[in-house]
Amino acid sequence: MDLSNKVAVVTGSARGIGKAIALKLAEVGADVVVNDIPAAAEVLEGTAHEIRALKRKTLAITADVSSSADVNKFIETAAAQMGRIDILVNNAGVTRDQLIMRMTDEEWDTVLNIDLKSAFLCSRAVIRYMMKQRWGRIISIASVVGLGGNAGQANYAAAKAGIIGLTKSIAKEVGSRNITANAIAPGFIETKMTEALDEKQRQILVQRIPLQSIGTPRDVAEAVAFLASEEARYITGQVLGVDGGMGLG
Ligand code: NAP
Repeated sequence: MDLSNKVAVVTGSARGIGKAIALKLAEVGADVVVNDIPAAAEVLEGTAHEIRALKRKTLAITADVSSSADVNKFIETAAAQMGRIDILVNNAGVTRDQLIMRMTDEEWDTVLNIDLKSAFLCSRAVIRYMMKQRWGRIISIASVVGLGGNAGQANYAAAKAGIIGLTKSIAKEVGSRNITANAIAPGFIETKMTEALDEKQRQILVQRIPLQSIGTPRDVAEAVAFLASEEARYITGQVLGVDGGMGLG
């Protein structure tokens, strides 16, 4: 895989899966714009520092990707300073788990806005550059939960299922311009998002994974790099499970 001369934008890349994706894309030659919320500015600068150490160009832009105004400014700045945008990775996401009977409007709206609306806003903003270039890759991080649902995660599962519908629609709309759109559905990956689970919960989860282990951010990053590459030119509108077989049921 060679992403030399390509510019990638990765949302929510201060830490976790987003950071691993940004570093992997830089390792295979891309220049990478990293993003996170203003409160994570210092940690985000750490990701940018590691990309510079790989001798790639980078730009760290803080923006709340659930805000239309923030996203438009963020993508305009990225395109103006880097000269182009070839790859978008919609990675930013949060959870606000709660049983449906107790779920507040705020818990619903927060997750739908940060996990789903953000992917719409960022995709809409980058597509005009990709259309002009007649080349583009949009890769969105969904979840096994978006395919199978999960008790206590109605908001998150709805947002991740929405990512899949959004991805398939974009694939149909812009395929003629040589732009592909794919989703990745990770299973259980070791990050800040999953650190709250106790040992017993982990053991129960691992028993449900055919490969018998928890995934790493790097496992997801490898799949993203492939989908971003020229080698994946004929793959669009797909959902790739990176889950150790967990999604098989
Ligand atoms: P994480 O460690 O919590 O990282 C998510 C990043 O997104 C954080 O840096 C977070 O910033 C940032 N973020 C949150 N709200 C944002 C906003 N409004 N604008 C910009 N950035 C924002 O989680 P992760 O596990 O790496 O998750 C990455 C993606 O993978 C998410 O879409 C998640 O749903 C998905 N996923 C994860 C797993 C898993 O097992 N970990 C499984 C399936 C899917 P702060 O931390 O500073 O708030």
